[in-house]
Amino acid sequence: MRTIVRGGTIVNEGKIFDGTIVIEDERITQIIQGSRGRVADSSHSQTTGSSLDSVIDATGCFVLPGIIDDHVHFREPGLTEKADIDTESRAAAAGGVTTYFDMPNTVPQTTTLETLEEKFLLGAEKSHVNYSFFFGATNDNISLFEQLDPCRVPGIKLFMGSSTGNMLVDRRESLERIFSSSKLPIMVHCEDTTIINRNMAEAKEKFGADPKVTHHPEIRSEEACYESTRLAVELARKYDARLHVAHLSTAKELELIPTPGTQHLASITAEATVSHLYFCDRDYASMGTRIKCNPAIKTERDREALQKALADGRITVIGTDHAPHLLSQKEGGCAKAVSGMPMIQFSLVTMLELVDNGILSLERLVELMCHNPARLFEVRHRGFIREGYQADLVLVRPNSAWVCTKNLIQSKCGWSPMEGHMFLWRVERTLCNGHTVYANGKVDAGYIGQPVVFR
Ligand SMILES: [Zn+2]
Repeated sequence: MRTIVRGGTIVNEGKIFDGTIVIEDERITQIIQGSRGRVADSSHSQTTGSSLDSVIDATGCFVLPGIIDDHVHFREPGLTEKADIDTESRAAAAGGVTTYFDMPNTVPQTTTLETLEEKFLLGAEKSHVNYSFFFGATNDNISLFEQLDPCRVPGIKLFMGSSTGNMLVDRRESLERIFSSSKLPIMVHCEDTTIINRNMAEAKEKFGADPKVTHHPEIRSEEACYESTRLAVELARKYDARLHVAHLSTAKELELIPTPGTQHLASITAEATVSHLYFCDRDYASMGTRIKCNPAIKTERDREALQKALADGRITVIGTDHAPHLLSQKEGGCAKAVSGMPMIQFSLVTMLELVDNGILSLERLVELMCHNPARLFEVRHRGFIREGYQADLVLVRPNSAWVCTKNLIQSKCGWSPMEGHMFLWRVERTLCNGHTVYANGKVDAGYIGQPVVFR
């Protein structure tokens, strides 16, 4: 059976054009330019499609490749009071995200081959979109790297000084070994723990045991980010490693990131998150700890620099760092409230707002959220609208205002920093491997996505 997506405006590989997409089973088999594209039937005679075809009317919509989110925390196993693979992959589907890479700071941590296999089993059982899982580096599991299947795993996740469990690699000798021995991309959370601890002690002395959240960017400071990113870049250069710096949050760190040539990705790349691109420190007054995350959301100037870097190529990928917590766990200030916020369901529509504001083009948004994650991690047959590729697509409608309310939230935690916000773009339909996994406000929870194949 074929599915024909017609009437829409396709955005792909730097071009925007009216066209028709023909899907057979899971794959795109034809892309026909022009608004009156005629679809050849299976016997190759020119007809407008056979009556057996299922037709999706995309009139008025833009058709993009499905979003690939390279940075999520779906909390399973072990932290399922906050979130799980079922609920968060529903949120992904509703947001136009067809592929995600989950992070290893679950319980148990994904730092052994056994715990990695367990995650793949959970994905196969519960994930409603395509999935894969990062392997977490520790001070003493580096010898396992060579046993990882490079076709199944996007890369190594390294926490260089963060508050995330005990998966903190802080020994210089371990860092040297990780950068010298990983053939996979190393995605690094860069914040210097020594600087953070010093700042926290000073803040507690001045403001008491639990300083207000407005002090969060002073404690998890620009200096803490810069020093750690500087070290990661130095090690990557020394060993010629593939470094992907996660969630850049300061203008200063951008000085460390090279601007790539037009066609090739540099060997050192950076991710910016929707949260750091959208919020700034002035928002703490109204949002409080809801927008407390690590690294902290910093100044308006930092946000502006990150937004500018979307266009000049120093930011290669937009991810979410989707990190749900219960609202009860967000009570308190810098010391007590946990860090992280859910974002995957509204990441695309939030970034489309930046397009409306002239900060980046629609073509560039597709580079940053679809093509580049696929290029960077060498995802096979996804991330582009191409013949022979998996039919992962999202249909978005402009000028279709709606307000984000609690009842629309798919994430298990049941809240969003975007609550009360009016969006102008709407995710109308999400196709994952040719299957409509989200349409008319409903997720098809009977559908299971596929493990991503790399390289
Ligand atoms: Zn993260």
